[in-house]
Amino acid sequence: MKFYNTMTNQVEEFKSIKPGFVKMYTCGPTVYNYAHIGNFRAYMFEDLLRRTLQFCSYRVLQVMNLTDVDDKTIRDSQKASVSLQEYTEKFKKAFFEDLELLNIEPAEQYPAATDHIPEMIDMIKILLEKGYAYCADDGCIYYSIEKFADYGKLSGVDLQEQRSSVRIKNDEYAKDAVADFALWKAWDEDDGDVFWNSPWGKGRPGWHIECSAMSMKYLGKTFDIHTGGVDNIFPHHEDEIAQSEAANGKKFVNYWLHCGYLMAEGQKMSKSLGNFYTLADLQKKGFSGREIRWVLLGSHYRQQLNFTIDGLKTARKTLFRIDGFTAKLKDISENAKVSENTEVSKLTNEMQAEFTASLENDLNMPKALGSLFEFIRKINILMNNKKVSATNAQIILKSLEKLDMVIGCLDIQKEEEIPEEIKQLAKQRSEARKNKDYAEADRLRDEIQSSGYELEDTPSGARIIAK
Ligand code: AMP
Ligand code: ZN
Repeated sequence: MKFYNTMTNQVEEFKSIKPGFVKMYTCGPTVYNYAHIGNFRAYMFEDLLRRTLQFCSYRVLQVMNLTDVDDKTIRDSQKASVSLQEYTEKFKKAFFEDLELLNIEPAEQYPAATDHIPEMIDMIKILLEKGYAYCADDGCIYYSIEKFADYGKLSGVDLQEQRSSVRIKNDEYAKDAVADFALWKAWDEDDGDVFWNSPWGKGRPGWHIECSAMSMKYLGKTFDIHTGGVDNIFPHHEDEIAQSEAANGKKFVNYWLHCGYLMAEGQKMSKSLGNFYTLADLQKKGFSGREIRWVLLGSHYRQQLNFTIDGLKTARKTLFRIDGFTAKLKDISENAKVSENTEVSKLTNEMQAEFTASLENDLNMPKALGSLFEFIRKINILMNNKKVSATNAQIILKSLEKLDMVIGCLDIQKEEEIPEEIKQLAKQRSEARKNKDYAEADRLRDEIQSSGYELEDTPSGARIIAK
């Protein structure tokens, strides 16, 4: 298996520290608002990575942090006049609901920053003892980037050329503001009642130290994979490396994987630009989590993905075609009376091998899906010519189920999830049609539709599809 490693700017063979087991850390959401689908592009890429590793028989231990204290959470909780905890709780809950909607597999751990302040304080103490950190006049503890010889090794920033100011207190800063960054921020009035006691007085941690302290706690000093969007490379990940490697004297992470931006109208989708959709916005427009998942899967994770409503409409059509394909296969697997066709097994094996090889080559999902579409096209022709046996169809369905470990929206088992009462209505409707009672048939179709299902008439009877 190969991945593009941002640290070396190369596609590299992946080797986990422990055979068959992968430890990975994923920078999670800052829970100050609802996540937008730009954020979900990153979480979807991480889901693809996690599922691909599992597909290739690795066991995965994934940790995703929740940033529930930082400049933005404090600012907005004060605006809303509620405690920081009450404020972030609501967005944590919404985040988990959104993950479920997109069928993103849960990580093994979701540590929240506010539950790990002692671990952060311990790490800052070590950095002070080792001389990498210092207390400034403003009472804050800063990391001295010139003490860490490797500073810039991930992002390529040049200390000599770009250093513009001595230090910076904000958590997020631009690439041209290379500076000492805050590990511990001394309390000031703007922080209100948000503070923790520390050996340096009351205050709160900076954003970057959260991820260093929590990744070490759950994954150890050195682990396999660290992920995020490309906007995390600098300063966040650069600063994580500086903190962790200075404190522990060990390599922090073996593989750094970053996804490209989700774009809207030519710009990065972001809260600050206001060009964003939340999942709730898209649901209101009638789109399902499955359709959104499909759009987010469809382009290579390192490429920019231009998000449009038309893209979602295309996803709907594609999924409809796939559903038609699987429904036909199910029908054949139960009813076909034709003899087995070795050509079909051959095509199935080839498709699955190509699909796997594409994913193993830096998660090339567009290519993997290309092999799947080509396969569907060929099998559709064979099915139309009655050249697919019941056993053939069962083998294809098994294979699709396997691919769905990664794709997560083929919904092979879906028809079984259709409620019994809807199935009964569909049955009554086909009876009514048989008896030429079209008014009753139409009434039953309307009733089915108003319950959220569509009927598609096929030669082997009506197919029920969840809308
Ligand atoms: P934040 O809450 O801003 O820290 O972002 C959470 C995650 O979403 C990070 O991994 C970011 O890199 C990622 N992210 C934010 N905006 C986008 C975008 N437009 N496209 C892709 N990833 C994004
Ligand atoms: Zn992080």
